[in-house]
Amino acid sequence: MNIELNGKVALVTGASRGIGEQIAKRLGECGAHVLCAARGLDKVTEVAGAITAAGGKATPVELDITGADVRDRIKALIEEHKQIDILVNNAGITADDLFIRMKPEAWDTVIRTNVDSMFHITQEVVKKMIRTKWGRVINITSVVGLMGNPGQVNYSASKAAIVGFTKSLALEIGSRNVTVNAIAPGFIATAMTDVMTDDAKAALESRIAIKRLGTPDDVAHAVCYLASEQASYITGTVLNVSGGLYM
Ligand code: NAD
Repeated sequence: MNIELNGKVALVTGASRGIGEQIAKRLGECGAHVLCAARGLDKVTEVAGAITAAGGKATPVELDITGADVRDRIKALIEEHKQIDILVNNAGITADDLFIRMKPEAWDTVIRTNVDSMFHITQEVVKKMIRTKWGRVINITSVVGLMGNPGQVNYSASKAAIVGFTKSLALEIGSRNVTVNAIAPGFIATAMTDVMTDDAKAALESRIAIKRLGTPDDVAHAVCYLASEQASYITGTVLNVSGGLYM
């Protein structure tokens, strides 16, 4: 199957590293013009440079998804690039603690980053998708939002919220040829999972059917598929990319 995204503009949040970086690179390989967004320009300039060096199209974008100006920034991006056809809400954070000890700030910051920003960004992007009658919204949730995880009440609540958001929005705008899907990665080897001890990683791997952590590329391929024309009849779904950790 050849995924062909020529002429499409894709915005990837949190594209400076980890899963977002790989999503940006793969969308670039498929022919999309990728707006690689992150809080600072340094790393996304490198990511965008790698995409253009490989023959693709990419633009680095400074964007704090929790910034008070996030809606204005998205409107400006749409004006500059005419449209955003593919939106990948990837940026996300954790602030783990056991529930009984969790500070309100750890709750607020995770909900604000993982949920509120998705609301603001997606609303601005989708308005234009509805007018152009083509769009793909792909939200990166987590299996933790489906199965829970001790020490991550805030994070799993935010990721479960993404699932409800995805399904409801899919119902609202499917008739406009805009699909809305979520991808639920299991445990993927990135900075987010680097903090785990080797023992913790080994214990985790024993619970995964495929017996290894995932790679950012495992997720990036799934994003490219959901962004493609071939996936036009798939909406409101949550695609687990977890090696069988969660079924
Ligand atoms: P990461 O920490 O390596 O990267 C997160 C990205 O989000 C970074 O680019 C960071 O700069 C960006 N970001 C964070 N806050 C931001 C803000 N306010 N504004 C703009 N950008 C911001 O994490 P990752 O492992 O690559 O995770 C990417 C996504 O995948 C997240 O939504 C995460 O919850 C999800 N996920 C990760 C795993 C995993 O095992 N790594 C598993 C399931 C889901």
